[in-house]
Amino acid sequence: MKMRVYELAENLKIPSKELLVFLKKEGIKVKNHMSNLDKDTIELIKEIIISDKKKKGEKRKKQIKIIEINKLPNLKELSLQLKIPLLAIMQKIINFGTISSIDKEIPTNILQDIVKEYGFKIKYSEKLRNKIKSQKKDKTTKLVSKPPVITIIGHVDHGKTTLLDVIRKTNVTKDEFGGITQSIGAYKVKIKNKKIVFIDTPGHEAFTTMRARGVKATDIAVLVVAADDGVMPQTIEAINHAKAANVPIIVAINKIDRPNTNVEKIKKDLSKYDLVSEEWGGETLMVEISALKNKGIKKLLEAISLQAEILELEANSNIPAKGLIIETKLDKKRGIIGSVLIQDGSLKVGNYFIAGLSYGKIRNLIDDKGRNIKEAGPSTPVEIIGFSKMPQAGDYFQIVPDDRFAKIIINERENEERSKIIEESSKVSLDNLFLEIKEGKIDNLKIILKTDTQGSLDALQETLKKIKIENEEVKVVIIHAGVGNITETDVMLASASDAIIVGFNIRPDANIQKIGKSEKVEIRLYRVIYDLIDEIKSALLGYLKPKIQEFICGQAEVREIFKIPKVGTIAGSYVLNGKISKNDNVRLIRDGKLIYEGKVTSLKRFKEDAKEVNADFECGIGLEKFNDIKLKDIIEFYNFKEIK
Ligand code: GDP
Repeated sequence: MKMRVYELAENLKIPSKELLVFLKKEGIKVKNHMSNLDKDTIELIKEIIISDKKKKGEKRKKQIKIIEINKLPNLKELSLQLKIPLLAIMQKIINFGTISSIDKEIPTNILQDIVKEYGFKIKYSEKLRNKIKSQKKDKTTKLVSKPPVITIIGHVDHGKTTLLDVIRKTNVTKDEFGGITQSIGAYKVKIKNKKIVFIDTPGHEAFTTMRARGVKATDIAVLVVAADDGVMPQTIEAINHAKAANVPIIVAINKIDRPNTNVEKIKKDLSKYDLVSEEWGGETLMVEISALKNKGIKKLLEAISLQAEILELEANSNIPAKGLIIETKLDKKRGIIGSVLIQDGSLKVGNYFIAGLSYGKIRNLIDDKGRNIKEAGPSTPVEIIGFSKMPQAGDYFQIVPDDRFAKIIINERENEERSKIIEESSKVSLDNLFLEIKEGKIDNLKIILKTDTQGSLDALQETLKKIKIENEEVKVVIIHAGVGNITETDVMLASASDAIIVGFNIRPDANIQKIGKSEKVEIRLYRVIYDLIDEIKSALLGYLKPKIQEFICGQAEVREIFKIPKVGTIAGSYVLNGKISKNDNVRLIRDGKLIYEGKVTSLKRFKEDAKEVNADFECGIGLEKFNDIKLKDIIEFYNFKEIK
């Protein structure tokens, strides 16, 4: 029997928030208090929590628990011993290394890691200890420095694509190309024996879309700013996206070959966004380049190397690979091809893997120069053939022990996916905000603010920042603010950051509304500053209740009266404004006074029944149980809507 988290919490008489925290600590994947738990998990949790309660609030997690081992366990045995569900252990163990199968004994190094992860310490028997000592001689962890992965971002036309091209052309030798130039989503270049990987598609989507799915593809962002154009709206947007993803930024001031450049002004403008160049006492590396004339590119690559050194990126080449799907395609001859950027570990032809809801065995491995290779290590972009079905860009890719292991995990993921769809979980909205704060799911209200003018933007930013709720730690955090209409990237950023979008005096087009809906991002539009502030305050206080508001659909003026036997009086009318429809409510107004309120019995255009009639058209209107219609009467059509 399945149970939702909150049901189990009720059953155990503990707050569901506490149970959620507990599940997370135990490595049991749940999304929220609506998530389903299976029978085994429920039993296990009950056992642990009830025994914990018996110990009168002793904090189970804080103590180190000892397990005694005289025979190396397999996964199933370990699950029983630790009282952790098998599936949870399987999900976790692939982070530590490869095990050959569920039934075979777990290598000691992985065993140590996984056991430690759950807060246990192993006590080996004498015999086992000797065995382990001999095993330890072959060192299994080998940390190597990992090439940084770069995404190029910036305003449109500032030269991102040109820069990517020039780096690729001048740093990949001709024979390396092997005649194949097609993109696999990323490429690797070598500079002074150091490697750098570039994500092929410029723009911050690379990390925003990925981050929306909880993964990070980029180590460093190169922000391209055209020297003759300066800091533009998308420059600022890109900065905000990189910051939100916690990716360090290197600035490439491009097009310095152009006349009318103003590098100093760019530096000054950028400093407003905490990007202060080294010569101004800051920490941001800034390089002047011309992508078109191939100038300063070496310096830029060196700056990237330097930044990478500061980041001390490391990976272990001796563990099974983990990585990200960066591109997918369907090839007529070769089938499904997934481009994978390996983030840690190594992979080989013949390895089994999982990626999102897909799994498979690596049949072919192709590098970014189009060559067939046998194996690949950290920060290498590769094309892989052998997927069971199309993975999605942004899916996490992982090597697993065998086919069976892969299928079990994918099966579980499919189940999760199904229950996710059923739950139809929604993201942050002003309506559920208070509840989410109370449940500890969110602590701040993140906002993306878009307005019509700089003036309104400044004013709103100031006021919103000042909103504070007494005795509560919640506050408004503006993660991005800009002048102009809401864009797709705003929606993606909101989705990735669990933010809502607030628009002032702007109207997003239908497409954006659609994307907002599909991403479950709330878009709130206001025309009055006071309303905006008021609603956000109320939402933080939990006062926001749906209000029913009347709105006028249209008005018609009576210009002719027809008396029809058996039917009654029909008002030959002219629609003055709006659009009237048969299902609306109506009221009849004469000389500014309300004469009648009710429903429409008939709405016709030239004897034909009409559902709706637009402004500037004539029509015949019959009113329910009302015949006293006079010339010049105004028939007002109105309806209600729920406003939040
Ligand atoms: P993106 O939209 O940021 O990818 O910009 P593109 O790379 O497509 O470049 C836009 C335009 O600027 C193209 O016409 C490029 O040739 C030009 N461009 C790019 N870099 C330079 C540069 O360093 N100097 C000059 N003069 N033009 C450049």
